[in-house]
Order: sequence, then C-alpha cells, then structure tokens
Amino acid sequence: MIPIFDLHQDLITVLRIQNFDPWSGQGTYAGHGNLQRLKKSGYKLVVQAAFSLQRYWGEYLTENPVLQALRAAERLHELVEIYPDQLMLVKNRHDLGTLMQGDRLGFLLAYEGLYGVEDRWTLRALYRAGFRILGLTWNVSNLVATGAWDSVDRGLSGLGRDLLQGADELGFLLDLAHASPKTYDEVLALPLKRPPLVSHTGVLPEAPQTPRNISLERARQVVQRGGIVGLALAKLFFEDPNTTIEEVAGRVQLLLQEIPEGVASGSDFFGFGPRDTIEGLEGVEGLRNLEQVLRRQGVSEDALANYLYRNALRYLRAYLPEA
Ligand SMILES: [Zn+2]
Repeated sequence: MIPIFDLHQDLITVLRIQNFDPWSGQGTYAGHGNLQRLKKSGYKLVVQAAFSLQRYWGEYLTENPVLQALRAAERLHELVEIYPDQLMLVKNRHDLGTLMQGDRLGFLLAYEGLYGVEDRWTLRALYRAGFRILGLTWNVSNLVATGAWDSVDRGLSGLGRDLLQGADELGFLLDLAHASPKTYDEVLALPLKRPPLVSHTGVLPEAPQTPRNISLERARQVVQRGGIVGLALAKLFFEDPNTTIEEVAGRVQLLLQEIPEGVASGSDFFGFGPRDTIEGLEGVEGLRNLEQVLRRQGVSEDALANYLYRNALRYLRAYLPEA
C-alpha cells in the first residue's frame, strides 16, 4: 500500500467542539473518521491544524486564539502519550526518518491563521509546543497578513514581514492557504530559507484566482519557488458544484502533468460539511477510492506515489528543521 501524507486535516480542531473518542470514533460525532481509520487506510503523516477563531462570519472576533492553539497542541501530545506505539509527533527531519522506518502514524502540528500572534516570543512558545507549520491567515485578515475574504488587499503588514522572517529562522514552514493574492506575491518574494507551501486549496486551470482557490499559474509559482501544493477534496475547491470523484481525479492528473514535483494531498477532511462532500470522498478512506480511480484512468504507480506522499516527503525532508 502506498503511504499517504496529507497536508491538512482538522481532527484536532473538531475535538474541541465534538464529543467523541478520537481513536475509535465512539461518541456523537459522525464526521470524516478517526485515528484508527486513518491508520487502517495507510496514512503515514497527517498535518493536524489548530483553528482558533471562535466566531468569524463577517467578524474578526477572536477569543484567546493562542491559548486555544496551545490547548489543541496539548491534546495532540496527550494522544501521542496514550498511544505511543501507534502515534508520533514529527517536529524535525530526524523524527521524519524515525517515522519512515516504523509503522506509526505521524502528526505535524499547524496553526491555521496567526491570530493573536504579535511578537517573536509567542512564536517561540508555539514552536516549543511543537507547531511547525504556520498558516498566515484564515479567510479573515489579522495583524500579520490579509486573508482571502478581505475586500481590501494590503498583503503583509510590517509586523508580519518581521514575524515571518523570525518564523523562518526558528524553523517554521509558512502556509499560504487562505491568503490574499497580494499576501501570496509578497511572501513568495521574501528571502526565506524555507519555501512556503499551500496546504489545502483548489487549483483552477482556466479561471483566475478566486478568494479561496488559486490559479494554475499561481500553483506553478509556488512550486518554482520550491514549495508544494495540497489539493483539497471538497466541492468548494472545484468550479463545478456537482463535482464527481472522476473530475477530482482529472484535476490530480492535470497537476501531475503541470506541477509533477509539487502536487500533494491536502484533503481538508474534518474541515468541511456534508454540503461540500463529494461522492466517494465521504471520509478518510476516500483518498484510497481516488487512488483507484486514478489507477483506472491510467496513472502510473510512480506518479501516484508522488501525489500521495513522495512530493510531500521530499519537501519536508528538505525544509523541516534538522533536529
Ligand atoms: Zn482551512
């Protein structure tokens, strides 16, 4: 079975608001899966994102977002402590090597949107808590950068530039998912040691960039800079409101042609609702269904491996901090 690296899932955030056992799935939550199902489906590394905005529809309100992120990190540490033979946290290249030699499921911690972060010491606290990926924004702007939904695109703030430079030096990878077009431009032009990734996005071959999805041209820029692009697996990431799994497979194929060394999976499982669910991609096993469709469409085993894990593995091997 080809291992799966998935650049974005929200299980750790869902745990905050749903009452269920993350390992077995027992409880009231009927979402995209649980840790047992992830393991059974052959996931090897999953980026777990802490999303910390409490209320966001039309508002910029946050309630102790950093505290929420730290709490989410602690819950993940706790899970790893409960299931040490099954799970591990990956914080550096050394851990990645250990992960690849065993059969545990690895997590990378991401903070989705730098809400509440105003100084380098808070960044350092997040780093110490195990976070290694920083999403600059969610759709709404913050003190660092402009988000995808903002009607005025200011790109990065002065503080943002300073913080991102500091984050790069500390060892964080920067994630452009949910960023505004100008934020993309400005971050791609920064002299960073670690090229940014786009963890979960749609890539639109014809259309120009929309608020939440990027154009193929933009995806190429990210990959040329050394980054990778995770394709998300919900309807909102495609043009067609009735997207089928065959269409999703077609998009993966296109990206395998256009950005062969940069296409990866960023499913967004646990992060979207039933209305956005594509038939065949109802849960974490969906990536295996997609793999079968791609195989039927004639995609080679080599290309499948690049999409499912190898591109992400190569990127993380190159740019995670060494130890
Ligand atoms: Zn997101």
